[in-house]
Amino acid sequence: MARETGPVCRMCRREGAKLFLKGTRCDTPKCAFERRESPPGMNTFRRGKQTDYAIHLREKQKVKRHYGVLERQFRKYFKRAEAVKGNTGEVLMSLLERRLDNVVCRFGFGQSRAQARMIVSHGHVLVNGRRVNVPSFMTRPGDVIQIKDRPKSVQLAQANVEETGREVPEFLSRSDGSPPTGQVLRLPESADVSIPVQTQLIVELCSK
Ligand code: SF4
Repeated sequence: MARETGPVCRMCRREGAKLFLKGTRCDTPKCAFERRESPPGMNTFRRGKQTDYAIHLREKQKVKRHYGVLERQFRKYFKRAEAVKGNTGEVLMSLLERRLDNVVCRFGFGQSRAQARMIVSHGHVLVNGRRVNVPSFMTRPGDVIQIKDRPKSVQLAQANVEETGREVPEFLSRSDGSPPTGQVLRLPESADVSIPVQTQLIVELCSK
């Protein structure tokens, strides 16, 4: 289960956009991107205009980093999206949004995708009553996502829901009982995606 490691705020500055990788900190004035938008590294002022390739690449990297997937896995999602009828970019984003770690994060059970991933892989989450510890598990409409009925798991999820105060997107619904539970109502659409993305750039780059 490979993942990107290293300083995460640097990634936001590299991509020139807030990627919301640090939970509640991202919404405070402590956000590193709010304080300094310039790309990381020395002599950034010397960098000239971005090439066409760089613009396409940055868009892809932005999405990969936001969802915490590496290149190989991202290519698999892209192949899968290409094989489906319809707009490849929209299908790709829908696949990424359906990942269990993303869904857990969007319910607010985890403050960030990294924490949601940890919550899933440590066995705190049940899907349709069965324990699932695979963060890339693909959720489907009708799936019921529940936090394990164990004090430690419930307390963690409830504290995160309270702290983030996150609005649940329209393709999901959450019930704040104990244990916290949510349901996937339908497939995510482009309006449900959590960051602005120009999917056309990604499709152009990955189709080559
Ligand atoms: Fe990005 Fe969040 Fe760090 Fe801000 S606080 S730079 S949004 S990871």
